[in-house]
Amino acid sequence: MTGTALPVVETGCTDAPVLKERGQREVFCGLTGIVWLHRKMQDAFFLVVGSRTCAHLLQSAAGVMIFAEPRFATAILGDRDLAGLADCNDELDRVVGELLARRPDITTLFLVGSCPSEVIKLDLAKAASRLSVANHGRVRILSYSGSGIETTFTQGEDTCLKALVPELPTATTNAPALLVCGTLADVVEDQFARLFAELGIGRVDFFPPRRATALPSIGPGTRILLAQPFLNETARALVARGATLLSAPYPLGVDGTTAWLRAAADAFDVAPERFASAIAGPAQRARTALARHRATLEGRRVFFFPDSQLEIPLARFLAAECGATLLEVGTPYLDRTLVAADLAALPPTQLSEGQDVEKQLDRCLALRPDLTVCGLGLANPLEAEGLRTKWSIELVFSPIQGYDQAADLAELFARPLNRIDRLRV
Ligand code: SF4
Repeated sequence: MTGTALPVVETGCTDAPVLKERGQREVFCGLTGIVWLHRKMQDAFFLVVGSRTCAHLLQSAAGVMIFAEPRFATAILGDRDLAGLADCNDELDRVVGELLARRPDITTLFLVGSCPSEVIKLDLAKAASRLSVANHGRVRILSYSGSGIETTFTQGEDTCLKALVPELPTATTNAPALLVCGTLADVVEDQFARLFAELGIGRVDFFPPRRATALPSIGPGTRILLAQPFLNETARALVARGATLLSAPYPLGVDGTTAWLRAAADAFDVAPERFASAIAGPAQRARTALARHRATLEGRRVFFFPDSQLEIPLARFLAAECGATLLEVGTPYLDRTLVAADLAALPPTQLSEGQDVEKQLDRCLALRPDLTVCGLGLANPLEAEGLRTKWSIELVFSPIQGYDQAADLAELFARPLNRIDRLRV
């Protein structure tokens, strides 16, 4: 990795001890990633090979949160399949055949594994290559796991993108090119593309792309800038294809965005004056907009339950840019390399990895934070105890990266606090 960093806190959390817990977890499975992945790759289709529970999860998560032409479905494994009485492969071939005949617009089909398909050991990788041959390569058919046994919430994006990495064409030159990795809302992607152009970074690709047929090429000239902190498997697969991973924080808030852009600027030898002039306007506007919410968040005590793996960069933003006090920052998995810059800039706090939900609830209730960031399942019980909560899933579904979104991100945290303050008045 090459490096750049945020303003480092002298006593940051780089080597801070971590409370590791391996008990009962309260977190979504990786199928959830389909909700934002299908919105991004508009010619791809996600076929979950799962149960009615999986279909229900997707329908309720996606149905409530988005309005779009569906590009996902569930092939339901029935009781006969689960009892091993039916040949699931025949059934899957039939469902895929019908789907592709009905939807000629699909260029890439993901077969997404679930708990049931995993339990009956349905080999979806084999099914994907068999079906690709049957379709004469007309449709790219890939597989990945979104099962709750193997993945949590945002890890579904990691397993999906990792499945795409072998499909990326090899770059024909070693000329430097930037690859921004991790799903970003189109509006955010457009803002970053404009900023990279102003910095003079010529070749910039985003992965995943908006069209699954327009895959970026990769090679020794590729510099990877992660836009999301939960893509360790994908990053590893890209590095194995010759790319270099840039060390950077995540583009949350003003400082986070500046340091993230600077990591790219340094890797592409952008002159400091050019960098300063490109970011000056947007950074200043963002700082002004952010100040409004800082007043609400300053000094507020915040507790993070582990959910999205965005917790450490979000905590860094809340503490360093909004003046909040951190009580505990939980994360499902801690990959110190991928969050190194944010950890170094995180004021001393209790870090925890994994979960033992009852114990963690006890700690939270004893501390009585002003704001608790948690999954949907914990929010109601905590609210019933008189605590204010923020659903972490909202932070994944909302555009929060970049200068123009810095104030919106702060507002997402400030809103529950403003609401209760108004009620008190
Ligand atoms: Fe539930 Fe597993 Fe299906 Fe996820 S994949 S909805 S955890 S059964």
